[in-house]
Amino acid sequence: MQFIDLTAQQQRIRVKIEANIQAVLSHGQYIMGPEIQELEERLSSYVSVKHAIACSSGTDALLLALMAYGVGQGDVIFTTPFTFIATAEVISLLGAIPIFVDIDPKTFNIDPESLDQAITALKSNDPGLHPLPSTMSNELSALNPRGIISVDLFGVPADYDRINTIAKKHGLFVIQDAAQSFGAEYKTKKACSLASIGCTSFFPAKPLGCYGDGGMCFTDNDDLTDTMRSLRNHGGGNHKYDNVRIGINGRMDTLQAAILLAKFDIFPEEIELRNQVASKYNKLVSVFSPELSAPQVPPGLLSVWAQYSILAKDEEHRSAIQDNLKKKEIPTAIYYPKPLHLQDAFTYLGYKEGDFPVSESASHRIVSLPMHPYLKEEQQQEIVELLKLSLIVVK
Ligand SMILES: *Cc1c(COP(=O)(O)O)cnc(C)c1O
Repeated sequence: MQFIDLTAQQQRIRVKIEANIQAVLSHGQYIMGPEIQELEERLSSYVSVKHAIACSSGTDALLLALMAYGVGQGDVIFTTPFTFIATAEVISLLGAIPIFVDIDPKTFNIDPESLDQAITALKSNDPGLHPLPSTMSNELSALNPRGIISVDLFGVPADYDRINTIAKKHGLFVIQDAAQSFGAEYKTKKACSLASIGCTSFFPAKPLGCYGDGGMCFTDNDDLTDTMRSLRNHGGGNHKYDNVRIGINGRMDTLQAAILLAKFDIFPEEIELRNQVASKYNKLVSVFSPELSAPQVPPGLLSVWAQYSILAKDEEHRSAIQDNLKKKEIPTAIYYPKPLHLQDAFTYLGYKEGDFPVSESASHRIVSLPMHPYLKEEQQQEIVELLKLSLIVVK
């Protein structure tokens, strides 16, 4: 069994993929070919946002968004420690400081109440209110709170009504890290349309993936769009060797856009299939152990199930689950075994164990099961039977 089966999908649309690749080979515009604009138009209309800016990866999408806001030294960006490294890496890369905020135990997304406390703690330089980077206690009052990067973990949008209200109150921008949630919905609005800039990834394993690296930024703002288009192409101005700002080589390959156009045709149907697979898992798991199911999708939201994760009782139980499945050659994965505030890369901030207990507990207990649109009911039944077995082992 495969954790994510990309072959079944490819078999369905192989002819279209090959035709799209052939078209690129024929016109030869490998950089910024016509497929780039076509993809930007199709996806911006799908998301119902005015502009889409194709780029080289989800990481670069986040980087471009922060750069468009001019984020740099002395700035603070609030984000979650229970995410992929890229979310916070881009903040540090620009010389800004990530301040971490714990997650909601039900959705695993940033907890709005803690977010509000963290902003207040920074503004009043009071680490008693919320854990702050301890190595910077002397500089904290000089730092400038600028924005929030919220993450839609596993495909469930964060609580944007509350996040946007808090951001407005404190004068911060919001960037939606929708790398795992492209196609998801929050109260009829699509992921990538829920903040000032929405960023997604087309890494092969994401819900909509290409055959390499790719990403996209979405926004309704014309000025931010112009800046991001310039930044992705070395800060280019009006003609080819005119450079008006320091940028990056952040373009998407035409070939990846061509592949995405073929895959996007069946994407809405795949979201439905993913939800059917998830409902089946939910039903099978809840019969014997409802406390295993996680995370929950709040009412009014649609998840794209980038991962189907469960929460084991403890680390020992999780190992038993993984071992049992492995014996039958069923792969599992842990997203994420170490929250970001405890990663060596961030020791310079001076966070410590215990700062974000919900994230820490999740990192010890979370485990993701095989999940893709073409997973069969028999396979799910086999997986859940083995889950039951591991429950007995730890009793
Ligand atoms: C995958 C991912 C990214 C980075 O995307 P890449 O395309 O791999 O650079 C960023 N944030 C989150 C939450 C992700 O899951």
